[in-house]
Amino acid sequence: MMKKVIRDFECAMCGGCCASQDLVQLTTYELYRLSRSLQMEPAEFFDKYCVVTATSLNPMPHLYIKTVNGACPFLKDNKCSVHESRPYACQAYPMRVYWVLTRDMKDFVRAHYKLEDSCSLFKLDDNDVLLGDFELLSRQTIAYWVDDAYFSMAGGTVDLSVPYRVADLYIHDKGMRDVAKRYVVNPEHPPVAYDSELAYAKITLTLQAAVWDTSFALVSAERQETGEDARIGKYLLMATDDESVKALRLLVESGRLDLARTLAMESKARKGTFIVAALHGSSTDHVALGFVLGAEKGELEAFTENGNKPLYVFFKGSAADGKLTGFPLNIKI
Ligand code: SF4
Ligand code: SF4
Repeated sequence: MMKKVIRDFECAMCGGCCASQDLVQLTTYELYRLSRSLQMEPAEFFDKYCVVTATSLNPMPHLYIKTVNGACPFLKDNKCSVHESRPYACQAYPMRVYWVLTRDMKDFVRAHYKLEDSCSLFKLDDNDVLLGDFELLSRQTIAYWVDDAYFSMAGGTVDLSVPYRVADLYIHDKGMRDVAKRYVVNPEHPPVAYDSELAYAKITLTLQAAVWDTSFALVSAERQETGEDARIGKYLLMATDDESVKALRLLVESGRLDLARTLAMESKARKGTFIVAALHGSSTDHVALGFVLGAEKGELEAFTENGNKPLYVFFKGSAADGKLTGFPLNIKI
């Protein structure tokens, strides 16, 4: 039988999904939009309606709207009282990625909610293909990545304005939206997934720069070769543009480089590869420069003597002044 493609899922507005959830998924970006529509301060909205927690579906801490006996506090007379500014997850429901087979979506909804009698999803043929709203899902994905990175790095101290500003920046960034769009179409495809991991690393650096209250630029970091020095052993040599080399050099040579953060994330898309992201900055100048690079696990182990010494990374531009500028990165692999 021909599959039917359903572009606009017709919600019967029964209110069932709004009354059968322990928590309603939210992001900080949406919290600001919702609190504005209710003329509340974001912190007040957070205290009254929200919780940051891990769930059985998502072990990472995230922001949610608390429900009362399974019902969202904004469900009034079986209708959403904040319809115009409802969270992306509610706007996109039941879609979480760009396309899905109706049968798989039904299985998911069946496993988590008791909606079979009311939801119009169950009136569709199992073989129909559901399509989501591309733009909406890409914005939701970016807002979600930002919160994911922020709540896993923030520890006990949370400043909601940080993930809000970073999400606002990247939701309006075409390059980031393109990565998120490719992701919502095909999240499991290795090249797409790897690009998403690089984007996530970039978001993490931007969040760290915002926590430090520094402006932030990402330096292009193209791997060139390895070198060896009697004092520090093997090091990685990266190529970048001359202006970035000058900026990095200024930070190092001025003696005002007092902020540093290095992350190493094992790639799920490329087995055995680590994404190393580093940020260096000056609290005096309120500026930070970051770079992201990929390295093989075995190579990182060799460079760092199994994590016992820093990874040295040096940069050079095309100007042949013979000077290298670089940093030791303390990474955990
Ligand atoms: S915000 Fe509105 S659409 Fe979302 S769960 Fe609450 S009542 Fe339902
Ligand atoms: S349960 Fe289904 S039909 Fe009812 S409001 Fe939710 S999405 Fe719409």
